[in-house]
Amino acid sequence: MIRVENVSKQLNKTRALKNVSLEVNKGDIISLIGPSGSGKSTLLRCIHGLEHVDTGKIYMDNEWMNPDDEKKFRTQRNRMGFVFQHFNLFPNMSVLQNCKLAQVEVLNKTDEEAEKIALEYLDKVGLLEKKDAYPNNLSGGQKQRVAIAGILAIEPDIIIFDESTSMLDPQGKASINAQIRKLHEEKNITILSITHDMEEVAQSENVIVLENGEIAMQGTPMDIFKQEDKLAKMQLDIPFALKISKELKKRGIFKENVCRLDEVVEKLCRLK
Ligand code: ADP
Repeated sequence: MIRVENVSKQLNKTRALKNVSLEVNKGDIISLIGPSGSGKSTLLRCIHGLEHVDTGKIYMDNEWMNPDDEKKFRTQRNRMGFVFQHFNLFPNMSVLQNCKLAQVEVLNKTDEEAEKIALEYLDKVGLLEKKDAYPNNLSGGQKQRVAIAGILAIEPDIIIFDESTSMLDPQGKASINAQIRKLHEEKNITILSITHDMEEVAQSENVIVLENGEIAMQGTPMDIFKQEDKLAKMQLDIPFALKISKELKKRGIFKENVCRLDEVVEKLCRLK
């Protein structure tokens, strides 16, 4: 679905991306991790076309996303939703208006259609009762949920999260993640997300680790977490569930390790 080929990007004096190549297939759930400053945001911004690459090419469904071909580039970009780390809400618009905006502007939906869908997604993120509130009267986590609802409402093929759930409390995070997962299951939506939450990483299908603008590791969560020493050098931890699993394996209770909490629980229940 997305192919990044030998992409490099310089930001002032920093070589933010150095010859990065990767492939994202339709329906993938990919976590992008790496130390701060390793190029994660720059990579996602290049994929979304917010930044133009210096060298290399990005393809969507085997078609080059050429910024000079403006009309086609816009259509390609419109298939992606980008949820920013610092939610981009308009303070002078109500929650509902904020959620309608992208649908009207990007997809040319009528006001009525946009409202119906916006209400549906506000309900899904648990903020229907705040539809007439203004962003300044919401908590950080609530603003983030509005931003996420607004992007989900355009029903993109690919959704890109730039540490978008980092501000949420554990419960808020879990409910958003469950919602995103449901959308993935219902619509085979492709998900690319930067996260520092290793429990979230454990739930993805594939992980890409960036270091100094280059891909340092790539594989399933377990492939990555097995390389604990390499991760530690990048100040990256392993999930808590895997730590428990390792302890249980050391004591001969588990034969092999798992990295998700639900897998640990499942294995423990089967021991009875
Ligand atoms: P990450 O998302 O992994 O924290 P970024 O993609 O934000 O990393 O940044 C990659 C590198 O590019 C870093 O060294 C950062 O300091 C630099 N950088 C990011 N944005 C800019 C900018 N607007 N101008 C100059 N350098 C930048």
